[in-house]
Amino acid sequence: MTSPQLSATASHKRHRSRSLVLFGLLLILLSQTPPKSEAGRSRVTIHCPVDGTVHLALITISRNQSGGRDSDGCVYSIEGNALTVHALDDVITCPSCLYSCQKRDLKKSINKNEGQFSPRQKRLVLKAVKDSGIKVSQSVSNSESIPVATRHRLSVVCYKALSEDTGQSTGQERFYASLLLQSAWIERGLSVSQGGLSSFRPSDLKDGLKQYQGLKNEVGSLQHPSIREIRSLERVLQQLDSLQGRVNQQIPAHDAVERFRKQELERAFLKIEAELRQLKEEAKGRADKAAAALMSNEGRTLQLRLAQAALRLGLRAEREQSLKDLKRETLPRPLSLALAALEQHIKNEEILIREALGYLKQVPKSTEDGGEEVQLLKGDLWRRLGENGKARACLKGLNSSKKLWIQQRAKLLNSLMKDG
Ligand SMILES: [Zn+2]
Repeated sequence: MTSPQLSATASHKRHRSRSLVLFGLLLILLSQTPPKSEAGRSRVTIHCPVDGTVHLALITISRNQSGGRDSDGCVYSIEGNALTVHALDDVITCPSCLYSCQKRDLKKSINKNEGQFSPRQKRLVLKAVKDSGIKVSQSVSNSESIPVATRHRLSVVCYKALSEDTGQSTGQERFYASLLLQSAWIERGLSVSQGGLSSFRPSDLKDGLKQYQGLKNEVGSLQHPSIREIRSLERVLQQLDSLQGRVNQQIPAHDAVERFRKQELERAFLKIEAELRQLKEEAKGRADKAAAALMSNEGRTLQLRLAQAALRLGLRAEREQSLKDLKRETLPRPLSLALAALEQHIKNEEILIREALGYLKQVPKSTEDGGEEVQLLKGDLWRRLGENGKARACLKGLNSSKKLWIQQRAKLLNSLMKDG
């Protein structure tokens, strides 16, 4: 339960009594809204600092990070035994005027300025929201009905507008990028929670790659042995065929003894060939059965998990291949719907990563602290988008970093890009 901390209002003595009344009202509002638990989320009353709209917003209670962390910093939470989407409701949007900000700043804005912005701040925010052209459906009545990406984009617009008021409009690129990246990670979290990949919780990239190989072997065990067998039998049959041809050419058949020897050999060849074909048929029967198993619920779940694990690791080509494999056959409707949702989240994630990169590019390279971390992050983000050339360009200078972990990470990321 969030309760506003009453801050001193000594510098605003004129407004003191009015402030106290407003805070009192706010406390009443908050106390009248018992948090309704909704799978680790609860509702809290929000008082919009721009137009005063009072709305109920969902907030995530759990902020544990036990679901692991992706190479670009995306964090996952665990609720019970299931992965949950980290920071899902961190950015809250007023359904009426679309003012958006991170939850922590909303509390701050309620506690200061009597819960309201100055007329100039309000004007700046409303104009920026209007100029941004970002629209939401007329019928939304709460923050969480507005798409995550829209909320985060709006928050960047609002923070920019407010920075004009305080004269701090430069040097905020990392912050704007982090807001967009957070929404990209939420999209990824939503992708991964489709079908529930709860068992894949890598502690770091190396551990993740190891776990991924394990998953891959599990999928492989459903499809490989018989198919390998068929292929080797096909090779032997081909070799037998060419051997037969050579023998036919090399043995002259001008007398009865030679002709007899040749017939004997031909019969032996035919016998071997027939046996090999029989073995191949049997292997094919097993392969068909394995293929059916692969398309069984268990097999499909495994393949979906493989795609989701590849998504977390940023293995773009592998992810695409798994999704392609999965879509090869007609899928039951619930699975095909889940897959369509997953692919939409992946698309959204990539668009948001590009937008975040737009801001990260503006962060000065070497002049500030953490410049190398930004380079590393950019490299990883480009890699995740499949733009390996740009990724390598970002990672290049990090081989000589004074920080060993940065060197090692850059090397590992480089090794994951096999082409381009
Ligand atoms: Zn509002």
